[in-house]
Amino acid sequence: MREALAMSDFPYAERFTVNRALPEHGREPQDVLEELAAMAKEEDAAWEGGRVSGTMYCGDHDHYAFLNDAFGLYAHVNILQRDICPSATKMEGEVIAMALDLFHAEAAEGEGGEPVGLLTTGGTGSIMHAVLAMREYAAQERGVTRPNFIKPETGHPAFDKACHLFGVELRKAPCDADTTLVDVDWVDQHIDDQTIGIMGSACNYGYGTIDPIAELSDVATKHGVGLHVDCCLGGFILPFGQQLGVDIPVFDFRIPGVTSISADTHKYGYAFKGSSTVLFRDKAWRNSQYFFLTDWTGGKYGSPGMEGSRSGGLLAATWASMVKTGRDGYLRYAREIFDTATAMQSAVRSHPELKIMGQPTFLFSFRSDEFDIYHVNDHMRPKGWRFNGQQYPNALHMAVTRPQTQPGVAEAFAADLAEAVAYAKEKGHEPAASGAIYGGVAGGMNDDADEFIRSVMADMFDTHQSLPPD
Ligand SMILES: *Cc1c(COP(=O)(O)O)cnc(C)c1O
Repeated sequence: MREALAMSDFPYAERFTVNRALPEHGREPQDVLEELAAMAKEEDAAWEGGRVSGTMYCGDHDHYAFLNDAFGLYAHVNILQRDICPSATKMEGEVIAMALDLFHAEAAEGEGGEPVGLLTTGGTGSIMHAVLAMREYAAQERGVTRPNFIKPETGHPAFDKACHLFGVELRKAPCDADTTLVDVDWVDQHIDDQTIGIMGSACNYGYGTIDPIAELSDVATKHGVGLHVDCCLGGFILPFGQQLGVDIPVFDFRIPGVTSISADTHKYGYAFKGSSTVLFRDKAWRNSQYFFLTDWTGGKYGSPGMEGSRSGGLLAATWASMVKTGRDGYLRYAREIFDTATAMQSAVRSHPELKIMGQPTFLFSFRSDEFDIYHVNDHMRPKGWRFNGQQYPNALHMAVTRPQTQPGVAEAFAADLAEAVAYAKEKGHEPAASGAIYGGVAGGMNDDADEFIRSVMADMFDTHQSLPPD
C-alpha cells in the first residue's frame, strides 16, 4: 500500500543536500533562500492554474507579498507578553470587532449580551475553544459533570477531536440523503440534562450546504443549551453572498439561540494559514474557558485560550489582510467566486448522469448513480484537477476559490468534465483507481482505513527513519 503511493521517496533527495543532523557549518543565507525558492516556485505551479479545490483561497502573489511585509514587522513578537506590544491589543481588538460586525453581533448587544471573541490558530483551534467554553460554562452554570455534545454527521471532524480531547461524549445526528441537512427532530430528542450544546454548519465542508440554523436555535433555546455555528469555511464569503442577493439563509447572531461562531480568516479572509476567529454571544461563555495559574512559582500566569506564546506576525498579517481588502474587496471577490461556482455547477447539471448534493453555494459536491464517480476523478486528475473525494455516498467536491475565477478556468472545467463523463460511462461500476480520503490524497482504500491512513502519515512524518543513502 505504501509503495503504491510512491510517497516514501524522500522529496528532493537528488537535488538538494539531505540534512541528517545540523550542518557542521551554517550555510550562506542566500544559498538557503535559493533552495527554498526553487521548491516553492515549482510547487506553486500546481495550483496557480486554478484546478485545485479549496486550499489556496487567495492565490494572489501581490497580496501574499503585502502580508509578508506586515508579518515581517511583527514576526519576532510574542503577543502573550502584552505590556511591550500595545499594538497587539489594538490589532486583536479590531480583528474581533470586524468579525463581530460581519456576523451582526449588534443583535446580541440589543438583548444585553456582551459579544466578544478570540483569535486562534485555525478552524480546529476555534472549534476546540468553542467546545471547551461550552463544557466549562455548562459545568459552572448547570453543574454538568458527564458532558455530551451533538453534531450533524456532516459536521467537521474538529468537533470529534474536541470531544475526544475534552472528555465530551459526541452524539452524531443523521442527515437527509438528498438535502444533506441535519434531522432537527433527532437533535431535539437526543438532548438531555448533560448536553452542553449542539452545532450546525454554514456551510459544511463536504457539500457546501447550510444546516437549518433557525430551527436548531429553537431547539437549543428550548433546552437551554449552547448552539455553535461553524462558519470556518463560509464565514468570510457567505455574508457577502447574502449582500449580493444569493439565496443564503440568515445563520449569524441575528438568530437568538446562536451562542458562538467560528470563522477562519485563513480561508476566505485571505490571511495566512494559522489564523481564525471564534466569537461568543456573551462574554460569560468565553471567560468560562480562561486559564489561570496564579500561585505558580514562575509568577502569576494566565492565558486567554489554549495557546501560550502567540505570533505577533500572524496577528499583524491577519489584521492587514482584513483592512486592506475591506468590504468592497471581499464583495468583489465573492461576486467572482459565486459567478464561477454557478458556471461550474451548470456544467455539472448539464449531465443527467451527475447529481449535485443538496443546495450548495460556492462549494459543491456531485455524485452519480450511473457509474463510480471516481472514474471522473481518474480522468481529470492527469489534467491537473484536484478534487476532494467523499464517501457515504461517494462524491467529488470542488470548493471554488479565487484561482478558479481566472478567465477560462470554468470553461476548461466544463470541457474536461464532459470528456470525463464519457470515460466514466464506459467504465461504469468497475472499481476506479482513486478513493475517498480527506485532503485529496487518493489511493485504493481497503477495509482497514485506519491502518492505511497510519501508513500515509508515516510516509509524511517518519521520513527520518528512511533517509536515502549518503
Ligand atoms: C476548514 C474547516 C474547519 C477546520 O479548520 P482548520 O483550519 O483546517 O483547522 C472546520 N469546519 C469547516 C466547515 C471547515 O471547512
